[in-house]
Amino acid sequence: MKEATLQQVNIQDSFWSPRLLVNAKEAIFHQWKQLEQTLCIDNFRIAAGEKDGFREGWVFADSDAYKWLDAASKIQAVQPDPELASLMDALIALLGRAQQKDGYIFTFNQIHFPGQRWVNLQLEHELYCHGHLIEAGVSHYQATGRRDLLDICVKAADLLVHDFLTASNDKACGHEEIELALIRLYRVTRKQEYFELARRFIERRGRIPLFPILFLNEFNSYKQRLDHVRKLRQSYISEHPEYSSFSLPGHNYAKTPRFSRQRWYTNALRGHYAQQHTPIRKQTVPVGHSVRFGYLETAVAMWCREQRDESLLSAMQQAWEHMVTRRMYVTGGLGAVPGLEGFGGDYELDPEYAYAETCASIASLLWNWELALQTQNARYSDLFEWQLYNATNVGMGQNGDNYLYNNPLAAHGGVTRQGWYVVPCCPSNLSRTFADLGKYIFSYDEKDIWIHQYISNEATINTGVLIEVKMESGLPWNGKVRIQVQPETKKEFTLHIRRPSWTSANRSVSEATASGYDPRTAEFETITRNWSADGETLEFDFDTSIKLRRAHSKVKGHAGKVAVTRGPLVYCLESVDNPSVDIFTAQLDSTSLHDEFVPDLLGSCVVIHGKTTDGMLLKFIPYFLWANRGESQMTVWVNAR
Ligand SMILES: [Zn+2]
Repeated sequence: MKEATLQQVNIQDSFWSPRLLVNAKEAIFHQWKQLEQTLCIDNFRIAAGEKDGFREGWVFADSDAYKWLDAASKIQAVQPDPELASLMDALIALLGRAQQKDGYIFTFNQIHFPGQRWVNLQLEHELYCHGHLIEAGVSHYQATGRRDLLDICVKAADLLVHDFLTASNDKACGHEEIELALIRLYRVTRKQEYFELARRFIERRGRIPLFPILFLNEFNSYKQRLDHVRKLRQSYISEHPEYSSFSLPGHNYAKTPRFSRQRWYTNALRGHYAQQHTPIRKQTVPVGHSVRFGYLETAVAMWCREQRDESLLSAMQQAWEHMVTRRMYVTGGLGAVPGLEGFGGDYELDPEYAYAETCASIASLLWNWELALQTQNARYSDLFEWQLYNATNVGMGQNGDNYLYNNPLAAHGGVTRQGWYVVPCCPSNLSRTFADLGKYIFSYDEKDIWIHQYISNEATINTGVLIEVKMESGLPWNGKVRIQVQPETKKEFTLHIRRPSWTSANRSVSEATASGYDPRTAEFETITRNWSADGETLEFDFDTSIKLRRAHSKVKGHAGKVAVTRGPLVYCLESVDNPSVDIFTAQLDSTSLHDEFVPDLLGSCVVIHGKTTDGMLLKFIPYFLWANRGESQMTVWVNAR
């Protein structure tokens, strides 16, 4: 099954087009400014010997510049902009100058520890950074056809092949990313070593003898190196007193359960935190850091698409099933424990502790897309849609210049959108995901076209005969979808139309999964016919009526509560809309709910009105729109008997 390129699909959608415009004209420039202001780009200038200064940011700060370049490249493919092009060109040239002759590029070591490399692979994200560089190079090549950034990546990847192809099992990165990047690079270069290295990095996981000892040694070494950097910074400030006023932004507020730190130590030492606890074919349960988990599973799925491997595919599908039925929030958010930035136990889904990092749902999108492509099972595209509209979309504010890092399902205060973070992994990840949207609507082979997502667009698909597909979709606000199909010449093929899980007849859904959302009920309907060259039109009206979802009885604190959903959207109560009601204690009269399209609220949206059992008015807004009007309180789960 093939995927469409970004250039093949032209999105013109009343919901998505404005958001993509904000992404291309505001968000990407805002992010660039932040990268400059937080000195992330200066780190490369210092490494290139072109500027004096102190290297700032976490060890993995380089990845933020690469991910920005990845996003900018994808934006250039569909919405080219000369100002963006010149920023990109300057950064690519700078990377070329900062890269060492043998391909190595990692400013933390180059500046603070010249001559040292691959020191603490479990903790310092060195290979993770190289992975994001490679992804940027592939995206840039696919968008522009140019090889300048790709050549930088090939040089770096060749160094990795030289240093790691035949290395021992401890030589794999603690934060997965390099694996999927190498397979992307393999897909454009067809150089077998890249695929082989990715495969070996994956196979090495869970095979390190005495992992806790290795981890503790690295942990101590990492702390000592950070201490050294702290001292370097102090002495730099004593020579440059004016620099003392510089500081990086903070982190977002996350309500943390007791024993979080202790849980991190246990999780990390046992290897779960970075999916180092058992070999990959035995990893049938989602554990640890949820972004790492998602990137690892994406790489495994990419591997299976290149080389079918039944035992890998089976383990991965079991992990998916476990995640969806027991370890996922109703928003599609992943990661219940802030201290771990990742998965807790089964049914451990506290709405307020929910970490649900934006990047974790993005990683899940990448994974589900790969699974959809190789299994043709609608469940994966259904979860993609749900996580896109809810757990992912919530990450970027309406104007593209503020973001949520963690995404709880209840907030008594303190959680706000911020312009930037000390770990700014999510903003550019969002931008590259939105810019990529056209890629996820269709897939095809010679005799079939699958429709995974309903986003208005015009596309030309080459199944041997060129087929024009025009889609008009009212989602997420209404379920009316019109698909016009016109092959260049008469052709027989099958159209597979996803019937979303949320169209199922039950008004109240419960018990099958922890969250009340169950993508496994989605299906592809198939229409096989000899399609006329004059064009044919199909029309659907998917049921987007309001549904109440109940959590599984094993999820603590959810008895007598519902989550209100409509179509693919999860709704919430935000205090700003409900000033005279305590949203946490209000009792919803569930027979009172009705919807209304409001053109002038939050860029136009469907709100859901209701009443409490004592007659007070309630107003629900889509979850992804919360926190756009200053600090507030919010809850997804509401009391309803
Ligand atoms: Zn993130």
